[in-house]
Amino acid sequence: MADTTTADLRSQLAAATRILAQHHLVGMFGHVSVLTNDPQTYLVCPGAGARKDRCRASDIIELDLDREFTPGLPLELYMHSEVHRLKPHIKSLIHVHSPALVALAAMAEVPTDLLMMHASFWPESMPVWEEPDLVRDRAAAVALIEILGDEAIALLRWHGAVIVGGTLQEALFRAILAEEHASQLVTALSHGRPLAPVPKTVDRDELYAKVLSARTHDMHFGYASTFVAVEPGARGDA
Ligand SMILES: [Zn+2]
Repeated sequence: MADTTTADLRSQLAAATRILAQHHLVGMFGHVSVLTNDPQTYLVCPGAGARKDRCRASDIIELDLDREFTPGLPLELYMHSEVHRLKPHIKSLIHVHSPALVALAAMAEVPTDLLMMHASFWPESMPVWEEPDLVRDRAAAVALIEILGDEAIALLRWHGAVIVGGTLQEALFRAILAEEHASQLVTALSHGRPLAPVPKTVDRDELYAKVLSARTHDMHFGYASTFVAVEPGARGDA
């Protein structure tokens, strides 16, 4: 999306924020960012206290990678700035505190069976950030992004997850599917019945390429956008 203007990205990020809210992936907590065509600048949705389901393009915040946290910005903004600084091919990061991913993040051994093809971005070994704190400074964010490595998702113990994508549309679809897959894994642990996961001989990257093309990400974005009409703004103003 090299030719996407910042104005377009603002609109897309606002829609993505509303879609994530509709799926209860962001609400009081959680946020999403996208890198602009200027690799020193990214866009992020409003932080805690803002109504994500009402996010409009005018609510989107534009930040320089070196910008420090000040009240009014997402407290954990450094996870966005550092992923965009260290991995500029990752155009979008989504941070969630959603129930099934939080449940997995509390497990000593995070299950990595693949129970649905559409979650084939699921790592064969789940990266886990082990700090009992928020990602509240740049050093913590750098450590988190190093732990993430080349995977699409990392868990944060007792906290949530980060999900990344090469486009905003990819990160968005992955975040929704990650929570669904985490829910399936938690359910499987609860019922205890034998599982038939995708065989380990199946290459997950190849499966992902077949099942979740860029065209599918874009199709999902168009589809999901139709459900999220925008009304009063994220801060409640008309
Ligand atoms: Zn958080």
